Amino acid sequence: MSVNRSGWRPEAPQAGGVDAPTFTGNRALMLDEPLIFEIGSTATTGVDIPEIATGPSRLAGLERSAPIGLPGLSEPEAVRHYTRLSRQNYAIDLGLFPLGSCTMKHNPRLNEKVARLPGFADVHPLAPVDTVQGALGVIDELAHWLVTLTGMHAVAMSPKAGAHGELCGILAIRSALEERGEGGRTVILVPESAHGTNPATAAFAGFSVEDIPATAEGRVDLTALKARLGPDVAGVMITNPNTCGLFEREMKAISDAVHAAGGYVYCDGANFNAIVGRVRPGDLGVDAMHINLHKTFSTPHGGGGPGSGPVVFSEALAAYAPLPFVEKTAEGLRIVEEETAGDHHARSFGRMVAFHGQMGMFTRALAYILSHGADGLRQVAEDAVLNANYMLRSLDDVLDAPFGGAGPCMHEALFSDDGFAEGFTTLDVAKALIDEGYHPMTMYFPLVVHGAMLVEPTETESKAALDQFIGALRSVAARAKAGDASLKTAPHFAPRRRLDETLAARKPVLVWHDPALAEAAE
Ligand SMILES: *Cc1c(COP(=O)(O)O)cnc(C)c1O
Repeated sequence: MSVNRSGWRPEAPQAGGVDAPTFTGNRALMLDEPLIFEIGSTATTGVDIPEIATGPSRLAGLERSAPIGLPGLSEPEAVRHYTRLSRQNYAIDLGLFPLGSCTMKHNPRLNEKVARLPGFADVHPLAPVDTVQGALGVIDELAHWLVTLTGMHAVAMSPKAGAHGELCGILAIRSALEERGEGGRTVILVPESAHGTNPATAAFAGFSVEDIPATAEGRVDLTALKARLGPDVAGVMITNPNTCGLFEREMKAISDAVHAAGGYVYCDGANFNAIVGRVRPGDLGVDAMHINLHKTFSTPHGGGGPGSGPVVFSEALAAYAPLPFVEKTAEGLRIVEEETAGDHHARSFGRMVAFHGQMGMFTRALAYILSHGADGLRQVAEDAVLNANYMLRSLDDVLDAPFGGAGPCMHEALFSDDGFAEGFTTLDVAKALIDEGYHPMTMYFPLVVHGAMLVEPTETESKAALDQFIGALRSVAARAKAGDASLKTAPHFAPRRRLDETLAARKPVLVWHDPALAEAAE
């Protein structure tokens, strides 16, 4: 259906039965919205600016020769365009986000208020250090909390996401090995239950990656791990709690075995919210671990904001941590920007980012930590685990829970597609959840489970919210088991029907081409 410049579809049929398109393309208050290029006209503009008298050009012949082609809209048209688009987005402020391995929890408004205080919001990374002592104090205090909560020795605050933190940890491991003259240790072992970023990080840092199988219980196979350790192994990367939503109970034994074989232990701490206040990874022999402030400590992420992935280090690796970092001195806080020979950080592997990290996320995370206190953080973990187990036990009679028999889960509940009618898949369930008003859960991950559905309710959902989601998923699961054909074409109520996912992933159309120009070129 073509769209003319005003956004109307003159050839659209009149509204008919329930499934017939409407004249406008809107579905009740879910408003359809074409691209801004399709509704705006290059011939109009929302502002009146007098013609500018131009002098001789100083662009040495590099002036634009063709019109720029930006569509013009009036202010109300522009406001409506972006507001309509924003309504097609799902957000944590609209409803429960069941995504597993993402920890999409509520972002408290108090955090936002604190982050917007001008003294924090307007701070500039190049401001003289004596004018930003308060901001540095926030970084220092947050660093203290992170080191204390994890029982580790030091923390690098600058990495900007979980995956970035993994790279930071692995680079520190590489530096330590090189200094020991053991650069020949080129293998990183990664269990099947690890997050996908773990093998990607190890490979990116130049290591070769080898799989360690999972047990039938969904945990690391300790015997297989021990059998593979040797003089070519640099270390392991273990996600704990793992992506099956299970705590690696043998973590200490794993660390001891890896250390005895001369390797280091990287722990992916993205799921720290399930154990914060209850377990200190330092006590389990971990050498480096990232913490996703945008997960455990509730700072916004995804479309809502940047991540932040500080990395805590054991004593063995602390000396290799990246620059810059904040240090307390007798004259106040300072930023250490360079290696100084003979100093404790002389062996730093270098710098990962231009400046000091995500200041706005530090203020939000510290606000979250201080508003909960140490006892409140412990309850965060307990409630996250309680909610996930409530989810698991409320659904395991209608959905197959592959590790459900292995005891309670941690922060996320894992289901498989076992028992669906012939031809019905996890994808169908996910699409039908959209009709129920939910963002789908994580699907087809972890890979160790067929047609995986990974649900993380988080501790910020009430029992009523959990019950409604459980009701929706029970209903959809029952339809998948009964072979309800309408499931195959879901979603029926979303702005778009079932999309060609493969085409969208493999050949995304990211650039708009003016059909008028294409026509003229023919
Ligand atoms: C989210 C996540 C990551 C990656 O973190 P980003 O901040 O998205 O880069 C790594 N591991 C696990 C287990 C995760 O859940």
